[in-house]
Amino acid sequence: MAGGVNAAIFPCLRCAGPAHRTYEGQEDDHYRCSECGSEFNIDWSYDGPPQSPCWPISEEETEKIRKMAAQVFRRRSKPIKGIE
Ligand SMILES: [Zn+2]
Repeated sequence: MAGGVNAAIFPCLRCAGPAHRTYEGQEDDHYRCSECGSEFNIDWSYDGPPQSPCWPISEEETEKIRKMAAQVFRRRSKPIKGIE
């Protein structure tokens, strides 16, 4: 279950490259980026599976992710919160 077919590829939270799902769980999926190799989990249990494919993303979204990643990975003092 988890993210379903639309979540087979998800933008990497670090470099905005395509991260392929390596494991599909009950509530969260595990991804591995094919560009930078970073691995992460996405928990789909809050909002449910995405209604449209998570990949590809627009240039704008790519920019947004890279900007956010630059902040998050520079100083890790604050926990990462969900976007509201
Ligand atoms: Zn990456």
